[in-house]
Amino acid sequence: MHVLVTGGAGYIGSHTLIELMAEGHDVCVLDNYANATPEVLTRVRTLSNGQIADYRGDVRDAAILDQIMQDFAPDAVVHFAGLKAVSESQQKPLTYYDVNVGGTLALLHAMDRAGCGRIIFSSSATVYGEPDYLPYDEAHPTRPASVYGRTKLMAEQVLTDWAGADPGRSAVILRYFNPVGAHGSARIGEDPQDIPNNLMPYIAQVAVGRRPALTIFGDDYDTPDGTGQRDYIHVVDLARAHVAALDYAGRTPGVRPFNIGTGQSYSVIDMVRAFERACGQTIPTRQAPRRAGDIAAMQADPARAQAELGWRAQHDLDAMTASTWAWQSANPHGYDAG
Ligand code: NAD
Ligand code: UDP
Repeated sequence: MHVLVTGGAGYIGSHTLIELMAEGHDVCVLDNYANATPEVLTRVRTLSNGQIADYRGDVRDAAILDQIMQDFAPDAVVHFAGLKAVSESQQKPLTYYDVNVGGTLALLHAMDRAGCGRIIFSSSATVYGEPDYLPYDEAHPTRPASVYGRTKLMAEQVLTDWAGADPGRSAVILRYFNPVGAHGSARIGEDPQDIPNNLMPYIAQVAVGRRPALTIFGDDYDTPDGTGQRDYIHVVDLARAHVAALDYAGRTPGVRPFNIGTGQSYSVIDMVRAFERACGQTIPTRQAPRRAGDIAAMQADPARAQAELGWRAQHDLDAMTASTWAWQSANPHGYDAG
């Protein structure tokens, strides 16, 4: 199948390219490198020993989208391109709506013009918001607490209405839990451009000596050790969920959201201990108040993805931390070192 991957040079996109190519798909990337470097695609090509057509441009740009539709004629699109920093979204709401919702609209318009009716969308567990119950299933109410979360929910709504308007269309919405880890080669991984917002890359940068200590946000949550709990998922498992979703979209019209998580959750302290096992060092920590907007715990019910996509996570916590450490220690400054 010909698969256009928007945001394919990013963290999750790059791992997904490898899994798509391993299954024999032809891939094409559109990325503006707002949060990535072209070096990523060089490495993915080497790892996959394959070709990747790539276009540098913005997902909101109709002209470049039409060019790709004409040159590459995708059968399906996997749509990662977007902005993802929760705190930045509160400061720059219009930018986030523009890129995340406007980008999705521009992409669907271009797909319509080209007669492409299949899309896999990167959504987030953050669309659920404060839990009424855990684990979240897909029927849990959605009331995101941030601008970022609302852009994702709004894009889901756009996709739902688009898919509902024509029986030839299929939209699969993947609600990711907390992606971590790196490819087994240690050649690609997560490389935040700034101070990491997320726990795992922050711990990895402490371990490699780039930062003095991890700040633990909150030790008074209603969890066994008082720190926040999340459902961490290995990025290679997440990448494989997209391959399964493409198969599903090929046989199922309409729209369907799926939780993509493991169904297990770990606390901040659990993650620090697991990382210490992986790297053989102590991770210095200091305690700070809760981070605004954080919830105590979240966890996926991945039963629907197992039943309908035939997908389940294969990697455990130690595989997540070991692969993160392998990537970070081999590339202490990420892709910058070349
Ligand atoms: P990422 O920033 O590494 O990847 C996003 C890619 O999109 C980058 O390569 C960036 O350069 C590109 N991009 C950004 N704006 C663009 C634009 N206007 N036009 C073209 N390309 C553009 O992020 P990621 O972690 O790989 O996330 C991928 C997707 O998954 C995002 O939509 C994100 O919101 C979603 N998601 C991520 C997480 C997470 O924790 N990483 C969790 C849930 C959902
Ligand atoms: N966290 C932390 N220190 C950090 C980053 C995160 O203690 O430097 C905590 C955070 O409060 C949450 C968990 O780690 O309980 C996961 O945070 P992350 O930002 O990775 O994911 P999200 O909150 O978006 O689920």
